[in-house]
Amino acid sequence: MRTTNYLLATQKAIPKDADIISHQLMQRAGMIRKLSSGLYTWLPLGLSVLRKVEKIVREEMDNIGTMETLMPLVQPSNLWEETGRWDKFGPELLRISDRHNRSFVLGPTHEEIITDLVRNEISSYKRLPLSIYQIQTKFRDEIRPRFGVMRSREFVMKDAYSFHLSKSSLRDNYEKMYQAYCKIFDRIGLRYRAVLADSGNIGGSNSHEFHALADSGEDLIAFSNKSEFAANIEKADALLPKTKRKMASESLKMVYLPEVNDVDELAMEKKLSSSSFVKVIFVKASNVVGSNIVALVIRGDHQLNEVKAEKLPEVEFPIHYVDEKEIFELTGASIGAHGPVNLNIPYIVDYSASVISDFVAGANLDNNYYFGINWVRDAKIDRIADIRNVAEGDPSPCGQGKLSLKRGIEIGHIFELGDYYSKAMNANVLDKTGKNRTLEMGSYGIGCTRVVAAAIEQNHDEFGIIWPESIAPFNVAIIPINMHKSSSVQRATEMLYNTLASNNVEVLLDDRKERLGVMINDIELIGIPHILIISERNLKEGIVEYKNRLTGNKEKMQIENVISHFN
Ligand code: ATP
Ligand code: MG
Ligand code: MG
Ligand code: MG
Repeated sequence: MRTTNYLLATQKAIPKDADIISHQLMQRAGMIRKLSSGLYTWLPLGLSVLRKVEKIVREEMDNIGTMETLMPLVQPSNLWEETGRWDKFGPELLRISDRHNRSFVLGPTHEEIITDLVRNEISSYKRLPLSIYQIQTKFRDEIRPRFGVMRSREFVMKDAYSFHLSKSSLRDNYEKMYQAYCKIFDRIGLRYRAVLADSGNIGGSNSHEFHALADSGEDLIAFSNKSEFAANIEKADALLPKTKRKMASESLKMVYLPEVNDVDELAMEKKLSSSSFVKVIFVKASNVVGSNIVALVIRGDHQLNEVKAEKLPEVEFPIHYVDEKEIFELTGASIGAHGPVNLNIPYIVDYSASVISDFVAGANLDNNYYFGINWVRDAKIDRIADIRNVAEGDPSPCGQGKLSLKRGIEIGHIFELGDYYSKAMNANVLDKTGKNRTLEMGSYGIGCTRVVAAAIEQNHDEFGIIWPESIAPFNVAIIPINMHKSSSVQRATEMLYNTLASNNVEVLLDDRKERLGVMINDIELIGIPHILIISERNLKEGIVEYKNRLTGNKEKMQIENVISHFN
């Protein structure tokens, strides 16, 4: 590929609404463009990375005997009524109707659709177990789309579903999926952990989330320092008896500091305010050395309808100033845009990350001050005081060692669902004895688009993205100096480009009439692992300069050795 034929769309400026590095770099490298809130166009550069992720996912799914299929994005509402999720799913489910006034949803996930297929197609145990996957666009009307494709409304998920006669068969498949997920994330080159997760309100017994480790991650995961135990914070919390915790629940209150910046969402302030809300306001003055975080926690909220951003410092409520170091000491965790903050204040507010994402609104006052406002619908302070998360240093629920907390990005999630969907939708088969049996079901997701962003969170430097080889959009970039003026540079460049390409090396030739610095900056920004710089001076000695994007090391390479180097 030549840059002059390519939609190279690099940008210098850091986009205003992008506050994690992967979002900034995806925008700056020209991988994605925002169409509207939570909706992104994938430009050629981004798409080729996404396709590589999908290819790895496909290969590992195929390897364990899961079959690819493709189900519609638009799903009839009656199936969602059958399972009760029409009511349960809430506003994340985008409901639409057609010209005949029949209602549909844009699929946030496909359990209903696959179960409908299987109940119609499969009637005998002889056809089981059955495992099916697809790589498809999902739509979730996230209350707060953010971080680019990390939490978008439209995103690509690999979702797989399996059906079994027995729980033990389901368990076997779950184990296979678990291993396949490890292979996928190993091949992509992510640093990740599989952690125990709650199977939530859909029943089922066993569930794991796969988290890419990153300080910018929205989720907290808890590890034992003495064993293999690892769980997401909700699960760790559910497993650890309150009595075993290090600190009395009165002395330490955990509040997640939300990341806030959308002026637009101030509008939500009005909509969500009602008498039964608890309101929490955080102010962060990031211009102050040591970055003071001011937290203001208020019960009830009648007066708060009046609170405007500018008036914050005057409101008469308990305010606690805590500096970042102190927070760090209390939690042992670092403060990201929405890191955990423990505050010793008269009111205890404690809620999970998912509740936050449901009820966050915020505003950007200027570059120095952020404030966020959360409402916890119908929260009662007494009850909330009861549900305190585990914290750093608590004993591990496994009985060995203490817990430490890290931030993670949920890139995959597997569930043993059991018979929740198959029971509700009458998905049965006849067993050997001719008896009707409800199917056992598993469901397994990977956020393909989110994986791309997570890979960037883990692989970048001040110059841009550093792609792991496995998902790099191109493996080699050729940067010729003065190609348009020097015939020897042009000849060598064309020769190298053609030979590499015909050896199946994915190569990008920067044939623009640009200065070397501009070309290098762009190539480093978009993260191509290997860079060849071709100059007239070096050619006289039969060499080209090679630069490794990851190590920054430069070396002179004989032209005739270049091809073998990349084969
Ligand atoms: P989250 O907790 O981040 O909201 P989830 O638990 O709702 O994710 P699942 O239903 O488990 O998501 O879906 C499977 C995978 O799809 C997730 O592990 C994640 O990688 C991806 N995913 C979910 N929601 C989004 C989103 N809004 N944008 C991008 N990827 C997503
Ligand atoms: Mg979600
Ligand atoms: Mg989740
Ligand atoms: Mg999940």
